[in-house]
Amino acid sequence: MTKSLALPKTLQQAVSFFSDPQKTFDYAVSLRWPTGKVTCPRCDSTEHSFISTRRLWFCKGCKQQFTIKVGTIFEDSALGMDKWMIAVWLIVNAKNGISSYEIARALGVTQKSAWFMLHRIRLAMHNRSMMKLGGSGSEVEVDETFIGGAARNMHRDKHRRRITETGTKDKTPVIGILERGGEVRAMMVPTRRKHHLQAEIRAHVKAGSAIYTDALLSYQGLKEQDFIHQTIDHAEKYVDGQVHTNGLENFWSLLKRGLKGTYISVEPFHLFRYLDEQVFRYNFRSLEHDGLRFEHVASHILGKRLTYAEVTGKVGTTPSLPN
Ligand SMILES: [Zn+2]
Repeated sequence: MTKSLALPKTLQQAVSFFSDPQKTFDYAVSLRWPTGKVTCPRCDSTEHSFISTRRLWFCKGCKQQFTIKVGTIFEDSALGMDKWMIAVWLIVNAKNGISSYEIARALGVTQKSAWFMLHRIRLAMHNRSMMKLGGSGSEVEVDETFIGGAARNMHRDKHRRRITETGTKDKTPVIGILERGGEVRAMMVPTRRKHHLQAEIRAHVKAGSAIYTDALLSYQGLKEQDFIHQTIDHAEKYVDGQVHTNGLENFWSLLKRGLKGTYISVEPFHLFRYLDEQVFRYNFRSLEHDGLRFEHVASHILGKRLTYAEVTGKVGTTPSLPN
């Protein structure tokens, strides 16, 4: 269906494209069911009739109706697909991130709605790849940093909870792993201690990789785990031939610029979603045009669902670390 459509490459084209409800619908259907076989999100039946005037299906299996939104992050949202699609466009293509206030103004929705859209879309930007990085002959940078420190505006109780939860003052430790010439990953870790950092390295990096870190003692012992480990002592210098972590330094500065410049404060509970967003942006930074980044996320979005309660933690869900 979409083969005949000229997909947007710029924001202006996107606004025009998604103002057409039929085009938007056809496009969403093609992302949701790429093979063209529409299946019921409740019972997987392929027997249904389509009511074109209302753009919904009646399933002959479970005798219920379903729309393009059922079973996706759009379900139970009253906002139209036109607004959702432009929100996705703005979020995935904003280099330093975009706040819910900016989205609210751009789309004419409330800040609360915009905040919710942002969080749902970030979920879709999470790359769940279980493939390890690196391998024999590859170079991998590993570094850690602390994120946070915006606790001063918070209510005292919240402040205290935040401090005890994160352990180290009001900062959250984050580990970054970058394969040179490949992708970056960033995860919250409970502490910077050896077992926490090295567990992430083993989970994300193939044995045989060359690993470059700073001189933090927590990285000692990687050599005994089939890695080729070299360190750069930042007290002395930052680069020694191939041995440096400048790729990650660059990623941290992008991440912190986005957090400081765009977002007012990030609670530890939500931090992993901001990490996902910046990781996605970094890994897809060299795509040819904005439309390709948009398509990648839009195609993920139609397969995932996150309710408002899950986003805000108002039900009995435990906040989980990424991966
Ligand atoms: Zn059904």
